[in-house]
Amino acid sequence: MEIIHVSAECYPVAKAGGLADVVGALPKYQVRAGHFAKVVMPMHRMKFLYEHEWDVDHKGSFHMGDHYFDYTIIKEKENTLGFDLYCVDIYGLLDREKIYSYDDDTERFTAFQIAVVDWLSHWEHQPDMIHVHDHHAALIPFMMQNCIDYRHMASIPTVLTIHNGQYQGWMGWDKSNYLPAWDSWQWGKLDWDKMINPLACGVKCAHRVTTVSPSYMEELIYHANGLERLFELEKAKCTGILNGIDNEVWDPATDTYIMDNFSVEDVADGKHLNKKKLCHDFDLDIDKPLMVYIGRLVEEKAADLLPQAINDAFYQADNKMNFLILGSGDPRVEAQLESMRNSFVGFYNSQIGYNEKLAHQMYAGADFILMPSRVEPCGLNQMYAMRYGTVPVVRSVGGLKDTVIDLGDEGGYGIRFNHASVWDIVYSIHRAEQLYADADKLADIRKLMMEIDNSWESSAEKYINLYESIQ
Ligand code: ADP
Repeated sequence: MEIIHVSAECYPVAKAGGLADVVGALPKYQVRAGHFAKVVMPMHRMKFLYEHEWDVDHKGSFHMGDHYFDYTIIKEKENTLGFDLYCVDIYGLLDREKIYSYDDDTERFTAFQIAVVDWLSHWEHQPDMIHVHDHHAALIPFMMQNCIDYRHMASIPTVLTIHNGQYQGWMGWDKSNYLPAWDSWQWGKLDWDKMINPLACGVKCAHRVTTVSPSYMEELIYHANGLERLFELEKAKCTGILNGIDNEVWDPATDTYIMDNFSVEDVADGKHLNKKKLCHDFDLDIDKPLMVYIGRLVEEKAADLLPQAINDAFYQADNKMNFLILGSGDPRVEAQLESMRNSFVGFYNSQIGYNEKLAHQMYAGADFILMPSRVEPCGLNQMYAMRYGTVPVVRSVGGLKDTVIDLGDEGGYGIRFNHASVWDIVYSIHRAEQLYADADKLADIRKLMMEIDNSWESSAEKYINLYESIQ
């Protein structure tokens, strides 16, 4: 089967979060299973671009509103990632240093999608599946079905995967002329609450919709940032498929980012050595348990609760835990987390920013990882953490609920709590301290977690079964 993945991110080319990890891994495993999976993404101005060689695959042009754009599709020569990687170059629009957060993101991602559809329309044959990811690619099924020049592709099956339903790509109706000439009778497919809503449009037009965990699929019917009714209406074509993790990238035995590699046999020593380095680098106390947070500092992740929860844990629990935070996001939370470095010297530290290497070192050296998320479509951090023998302390939501079993339940290995509240977090920190004090139990749990199979093989097969069901 020939599958085209369309995404704004793909690891290691350009990554802002879990979307990149999935799009960098799923196609690789589909290729290994005997399919022709390809990825097409914007040509962001990233290191990967300059470190690899590229062929020009296609050149074209299109109108978007009053503007006329030329685009070029380039293909990575060496198949470095284990699948064909194509990037869309639109001079001045996509060749930027960041993936998102520009004032003209609407124009950038609409143009990206038009270029992809235009390129596909020039193919001599049709692919078997167009798999679009998140709102940045979610207008593509609509364009293939309703834009006059592209309707010959209307019958190609499409799948939309929602990695994060909070972001929907809303744009005003004044921008409807951005889309290539389309059948205006179909305006209702673009509309949600008097806006053009690309994610809602993708849910309406794609042949199948998936979310990155089964629990998140159920939750979207109740909390979907305004799209609840739509998910209720369309639930027959929606399914949750849990993400896997790329065991080749995330393997403590071979990870080149960490100082001391280890496996399940020498996990205690391995983790101790990695923890020692972290504690040295960040001035933390090696004799205390170490809890880390890695991720975007946004409301969705309940990062706003971290300062108060850490503060309360220190005062109520007599400084029994060390904390290390890595992330960026809300400037107010960033400032609070930075200023706390002066208050809790020797047992708290933070690094504001994005740092792939440090993230790996933290998974390896930490004893616990905290994820108090209000919304968590899948969550990869907890799965990476478990593979590195780090115990997840998570709120029972979305993919966290699907991947972590509480210590108190049969076969359990993690710590779960119900509410995104300071009280629940502090109580869970207390449970973590108790677990740390029981060295034998912690050793058993580490081994149990490291042997859990969260690999991509079985998830990749579920996607193939889904594609087959709509051929
Ligand atoms: P998201 O909602 O952000 O996509 P996920 O748990 O699905 O959350 O994926 C997060 C991914 O991004 C993980 O690979 C995690 O290690 C990485 N990550 C998040 N923030 C940072 C950061 N500040 N530095 C390094 N890696 C980060």
